[in-house]
Amino acid sequence: MPQSTYNNRPSPFLKTSEEEWNSWIWQHQNRLKKESDFDWIDLSAEEKQGFENLGDFRVAVTPHYAALFEEGNPECPLRKQALPHIAESSIESYELADPLAEESHMPVPGITHRYPDRVLFYVSHHCPVYCRHCTRKRKVSDPLSAASSMQIEGSLKYIRETKSVRDVLLSGGDPLTLSDEKLEAILSALRKIEHVEVIRLGTRNPVTLPQRITENLADILKRYGPIYVHTHFNHVNEISPESRLALTRLRNAGTVLGNQMVLLKGINDSVESVMELNRELLKNGCRPYYMLQCDFAQGISHFRTPLQKGIDIIDALRGRIGGMGIPDFVVDLPGGGGKIELVPDYIQSREGNHIVFRNFQGQSFPYVDVD
Ligand code: SF4
Repeated sequence: MPQSTYNNRPSPFLKTSEEEWNSWIWQHQNRLKKESDFDWIDLSAEEKQGFENLGDFRVAVTPHYAALFEEGNPECPLRKQALPHIAESSIESYELADPLAEESHMPVPGITHRYPDRVLFYVSHHCPVYCRHCTRKRKVSDPLSAASSMQIEGSLKYIRETKSVRDVLLSGGDPLTLSDEKLEAILSALRKIEHVEVIRLGTRNPVTLPQRITENLADILKRYGPIYVHTHFNHVNEISPESRLALTRLRNAGTVLGNQMVLLKGINDSVESVMELNRELLKNGCRPYYMLQCDFAQGISHFRTPLQKGIDIIDALRGRIGGMGIPDFVVDLPGGGGKIELVPDYIQSREGNHIVFRNFQGQSFPYVDVD
C-alpha cells in the first residue's frame, strides 16, 4: 500500500497537486460520475450495461476511493461496491423500495422513530460515494430529497418535544457532507436538549473521503462529545493511510468508534476477509460493531448472501480473534421489525438442566444450569 492514495492516483488526476488531492472539497468536486469518467478503467460489459440502465440512484466515486481500486480487476471488492452493474436492473418480487419501512415510521419529515428511545435524524441525502448496496437508494443521491433547513428545524423541534428520545443517530446520506458550520449548529442544538443523552453519527467518510476528517471537524466533535461514530468499512483494502489518519483524529477527538460492515457476496463473504478487516480495525481503535445482513433494497440481490453464511463466519471467528473483534451479526427485519441478532448454536444437547455445549474447536463440555 503506498503511503498516500495520491501516489496511486488514477490517470485522469496525474496533473493534480498533492494539496488539491488532500482537500476534501476538491475530492468532492472531482468525483467520477459518468461512464466516460471511467475510461481509464477497462469497464466490463456488465458495468457498461449498468451505466446504460442506471435508474434514479446515481453514481459518484471520489478520486481517493477510485485510487484504491485494484488495477484491471473487475472483481475488485471496492470497484464492485461503487460501480453500477447490470444486475441492479433485476428486482426480485420480495425486494422493497423502503425495506426497513423508514418512511412509515416518520412522525415528521427527516425523522424515523421506531424504537421508543431512539431516532434516526436524516440531515443530508448526499454521500461522497454512492454504494451500490445502499438501503436508502430510493432517496439518497436525489437532489430533490435533500434535507432543507426548515426540515432540520422541524426535526429538532420533534426531538425537543419528545421526551422519550434519549439517543439520536445523525444519518442520511452522510452527515459529513454538511459544512462544519451546519453540522456544528445541529450538534449544538442537540446538546441543549436535556433528555438527549447519546449522540451518534453514521458516516462512511472515513472510508470514501477520509480527507473530510479535518482538524477543525475533529475539534467540533470534541466540543460536543462524547459522539459515537459508526463508520462503514466493508473490506480491508478500504483502510488507506488517509483512513488511518482520519480514525486517529476521530479517536483523539474523543469519539467512540464502531464499524458497521455489510456482508456482501463476492466482496467480503469469507472468514478470512472479515477477520482481516476486523484485525485492522482493532489496530486502528475502531471496534467491529455490526455485521449486517444485506437487506431487501431493490436491485441488490447479487450482493445478498444466505443467512447461514453470516452465522458460519461468526462461528469461525469465535476463538480465533478476541471478542472485541466479533461483531453482532444482525438482520434488520423487512417491514420495520427492527434488528435481530443471529448467533451460532452452541448447545449440542439438553436434558433437564444438563446441557452439553460445544466450544470453538467443536469439543463438548457439560454444564449444569441452575433451576
Ligand atoms: S454511504 Fe451509506 S447512505 Fe451513502 S450510499 Fe453508502 S450506504 Fe448509502
